[in-house]
Amino acid sequence: MSTDNTPDPFSQFPKLSQRNQITHAVTTRFGPAFGKVGTDQATAEAAAQTAELLQMQGTAWAHQVHGDTILRVNKPGIAGQADGLITDTPGLLIAGRSADCPIILVAGSRPDGSSVVGFAHASWRSTVRNITRKLIHRLLTEMEATPESLQAAIAPSAGPCCYEVGTEVRDEALEKLGTVSEQFFTRHNDRWIFDLWSANTLQLHEAGVPAQQVENSRICTICQGGAFWSWREQGEQAGRFAGVIGVKPGEQA
Ligand SMILES: [Zn+2]
Repeated sequence: MSTDNTPDPFSQFPKLSQRNQITHAVTTRFGPAFGKVGTDQATAEAAAQTAELLQMQGTAWAHQVHGDTILRVNKPGIAGQADGLITDTPGLLIAGRSADCPIILVAGSRPDGSSVVGFAHASWRSTVRNITRKLIHRLLTEMEATPESLQAAIAPSAGPCCYEVGTEVRDEALEKLGTVSEQFFTRHNDRWIFDLWSANTLQLHEAGVPAQQVENSRICTICQGGAFWSWREQGEQAGRFAGVIGVKPGEQA
């Protein structure tokens, strides 16, 4: 993923880009302006604009609530309250909005060669609820993707250089994920650094995504976030960017 000085509305992952049935992007702050929380109109406009720019027919998104619900969608618009969406509908983009939270984009194929896609909005609360592992599980079972076909990408988000949390976050992670999650926390004065990238990478691996099929932009929105909004950095002024993915129109008709 590149973020040079030219304002580009999108950035893309090299390996996901190689899948010719799939389109994906991470919008930048120079691209469509996804709304802040509670601004559905702005989100609807940005969603429509993004679909048009990527030559897709529409975009579905969700009211993200930091939970672990993943919905299957087949039409544009608000899908409901969820922190992940999955689809196999050609021409439909699904969009996860963020300002620091990792958006995990995933593409996969079925034995017949048709494609499926999904995303997870892996905030710390959703991460400790195993949302990424649940996303992969749904793609493998309900959507019938094969494990070896899965390709995942972790969008720019709060990195292990900066993402400080309180003890209560670590306590909740240990309670929900077990002692395996100790490795994701590093002490920083009286607080902790939570490595969301490693936590979600482990969920991807454990759910069956081959290690070499996980891309991580390794762009921290807090300290290297020129092109991407950051809640920690800009606070109330932060807009939202989106990680979007879909099956191209005309595929698997
Ligand atoms: Zn950082």
